[in-house]
Amino acid sequence: MALDLVLRGGRVIDPSQAVDSVLDVGFADGRVAAIGAGLAGREVRDVSGRIVTPGLIDLHTHVYWGGTSLGVDPLRLLRGGCTTLVDTGSAGPGNYAGFLEHVIKPSSVRIVALLNVSFAGIYGFSKRVMVGESGDLRLMAPIDAVEVARANRDTIAGIKVRVGQNASQNSGVIPLDIARQVAEEVGLPMMVHIDVPPPTLEEVLARMRPGDILTHCFRPFPNNPSTADGRVRAAVLEARGRGVLFDIGHGMGSFSFKTARAMLANDFAPDCISSDVHALSIDGPAFDLVTTLSKFLCLGMPLIDVIRAATEAPAKALRRSDLGRFRAGCVGDASILALEGGAFDYVDSTGEHLPGKQRLVATGVVVDGRWRN
Ligand SMILES: [Zn+2]
Repeated sequence: MALDLVLRGGRVIDPSQAVDSVLDVGFADGRVAAIGAGLAGREVRDVSGRIVTPGLIDLHTHVYWGGTSLGVDPLRLLRGGCTTLVDTGSAGPGNYAGFLEHVIKPSSVRIVALLNVSFAGIYGFSKRVMVGESGDLRLMAPIDAVEVARANRDTIAGIKVRVGQNASQNSGVIPLDIARQVAEEVGLPMMVHIDVPPPTLEEVLARMRPGDILTHCFRPFPNNPSTADGRVRAAVLEARGRGVLFDIGHGMGSFSFKTARAMLANDFAPDCISSDVHALSIDGPAFDLVTTLSKFLCLGMPLIDVIRAATEAPAKALRRSDLGRFRAGCVGDASILALEGGAFDYVDSTGEHLPGKQRLVATGVVVDGRWRN
């Protein structure tokens, strides 16, 4: 087969196939076509000395730029090395059409959406105006959400709900119960945001099904997954046991090194690592996906597991077997990364600093079989 593009001589890491070796990756007709040695193609890019992974998926972003105040321009996230951005609930059924037409369709980066169960999505999120979309229960829109999710099966991969004192005030678990009904009705997973109780982490996890995703899973106290004496909460272990997925969603206030150290010390690594970049976290502390991945490297998580948490694992969470792997016929996406040594200063959402010796940097991406940077 004639290949359109070959990435030559990189260290190919594809956790889905337990691959970690120097190989070429070839693309044809926008798809992954071959992985091997000595591939030839119309365009050849020498990526020796670089890491080549299946296109990175950021499972938690906000990119409804211009339509919501927390949205950032998806092009700004290319520096994070992502080829797929999952927008988690920026839009609800009342304003999804604008997101689709004005942002998702024109974007050169793939955008997959999780639809907010609240009518206008996250509509009041800025430095000076902060109104949680799940606080006023008149905004819950289960019938509209089902209609919009059904009509947009190609771009909507799940349902998003935010509960916690910041996102839902005194509504407790009611928005979550409504979102779960919607997710069941349309047969999609649900991602749940937690913050300060109410509701408690235990109340939230009890309502989540296998394949549902808890985001902000390594948040600081309160509603953190670890106990005061450094163990994993029983409800968290129980939830993982029945298939609930745990996603980082770093963001502005939702990731703590202290929590992460406690969880990793108990062999509880996150399933997915995502940045939760939005207008108030993109200039720190989250920055982008590769910075968030770098933090986990510096916390001691092995490189292949870190890459899995941004490729194979989020693809599975989205139920997209054509993403996150280098298999012939899969979507032709790749991320080219440099692993740099040095002295780097990392900061979490609580202001704690972590000195690190490693940094992942994105140096290019391939989207739909085409090189971009
Ligand atoms: Zn978010």
